[in-house]
Amino acid sequence: MDDFKIPLRTRFAPSPTGYLHRGHVLNAIMVWGVARLYGGKIMLRVEDHDRERCRPEYETALLEDLQWLGLEWDEFSRQSDREEIYLEMLDALRMTEHVYHCQCSRKDILENSMQPGGELWYPGTCDNLDLDEKDNGVRVVLPTYSTGFDDSILGEQIQTPALQCGDILLRDRKGNWTYHFACVVDDFLQKINLVIRGEDLLESTGRQMMLHTMLANPNSPKYLHHPLIFEKNGVKMSKRDFSMSIREERSKGINREKLFGEVLYSAGILPAYRPVAVGELLQITEIYLFRILQKKQNLRRK
Ligand SMILES: [Zn+2]
Repeated sequence: MDDFKIPLRTRFAPSPTGYLHRGHVLNAIMVWGVARLYGGKIMLRVEDHDRERCRPEYETALLEDLQWLGLEWDEFSRQSDREEIYLEMLDALRMTEHVYHCQCSRKDILENSMQPGGELWYPGTCDNLDLDEKDNGVRVVLPTYSTGFDDSILGEQIQTPALQCGDILLRDRKGNWTYHFACVVDDFLQKINLVIRGEDLLESTGRQMMLHTMLANPNSPKYLHHPLIFEKNGVKMSKRDFSMSIREERSKGINREKLFGEVLYSAGILPAYRPVAVGELLQITEIYLFRILQKKQNLRRK
């Protein structure tokens, strides 16, 4: 695709809060396929920022599962090893942006401020309360403008994070770095120039791009949001629906080729099911991206 930066740097970034499931496999295929197709590098980033929910045994398991899948990576990082870096970046942010402390629990916010779309929206309750840091969360005020980007698959997107989620939580009341903050700091400092992830994370993008700007990253990454896995009735599967882990599927005797084929078919990337070998993934990714590019160009011409 002509809009990828070369040398391409992308990442596969699972959270070790459970075992890998088919949604992860689809994302790993896309990351691996695009990176290898364009001679890029893959960072395997273990996103264990939530200390209560992450467990080392899940990290061991995900490394094993990835090896079994045969999708190798080039570099490795773990968010829990990067505490000092997040602290430095938070300090830097405090110098240039309005950062404040927040005492609200998730329940407080749920009771006061659900958006019609169902997303949790923070109304800025604690801004100007001048709370100290101890036992409180840390938030940054979001600019009120809208931000646009050209998603490599979905095309032009416009988002207004100040209306979608309100001021972003950077660290929670228990001292855990949040997904958005840790992810943006890492994408920035690890020089990731293409973020490849599922459509379920599309809404995160505008706010993450704003965070990149606030952290003075001159090169926000490009974004590619791929389709999710559908069940037979056309309903998108969410993380919660994946009751069986890859680990369990392996123990029941599934082979890699059948798994790849089923995953690609259920995401609409393969038109019909057939077993797929690792060696075929590059060509399947290439054909898929070519089709998408054609579709985007046709839309522009209309
Ligand atoms: Zn608050």
